[in-house]
Amino acid sequence: MRLLRSTLDLFFPPLCLSCSKRLKGNETLLCLTCLAKLEWLEGVCSVCGNEIKNKHCRYCSSQHIYFDKVRSLFHFNSVVQSLIHNLKYNETTIVSNFLKSYFEIYLNSYDPFEKIDLISPVPLHAVRKRARGYNQAELLSGKIAKILDTEHIPQLIKRKKYTKSQTQLNKAERDNNVESAFILNNKFDISNKNILLVDDVFTTGSTVNSISKLLKENNCNKVFVLSIAHA
Ligand SMILES: [Zn+2]
Ligand SMILES: [Zn+2]
Repeated sequence: MRLLRSTLDLFFPPLCLSCSKRLKGNETLLCLTCLAKLEWLEGVCSVCGNEIKNKHCRYCSSQHIYFDKVRSLFHFNSVVQSLIHNLKYNETTIVSNFLKSYFEIYLNSYDPFEKIDLISPVPLHAVRKRARGYNQAELLSGKIAKILDTEHIPQLIKRKKYTKSQTQLNKAERDNNVESAFILNNKFDISNKNILLVDDVFTTGSTVNSISKLLKENNCNKVFVLSIAHA
């Protein structure tokens, strides 16, 4: 296996996922320059996890927030963007394992959440999931459930309607787009449970807020959110 690997490397020398520079022997996935650009996200609002310069968080004071705490590993930048792109479209296994080790370091050193009873990914719509073959958030939530030794329920929340891609929309349009887009799988009893939602990137928070509202309406106790990066 090792021989095959090194033979492959001879013909297809591994390149940095982010800057495409040829990797050296002690580098995997990212070159050391890009690796150094992965910055832990610190100094954040205790609720939404946005970086704040002073105590007052503009995001939380401007709307009704249903989740209890959001945490993300990294500042969003081009290196993080490459990792997420590759997590979605290729190099899925190697990138998800790479990220798993960062989630492990983060969770072990910060221990940011109270007792978690179950873990669920933010769902992709079935049509989109079929097109891609998997939900990238689910790959991560499965690994995070193993780290925390907690029950993983990928099918806890479903998307009711096909929400348009969020990227072209402004904040108000995004809220409208995701409102009532989700249903809870009533096979599972979530009353008084603490739930951890996992997503790839936290952007406006519309999606997780909408899911959190649904979970709270169904008597869950707390909703926590964990993502790779805060955009
Ligand atoms: Zn690089
Ligand atoms: Zn906040």
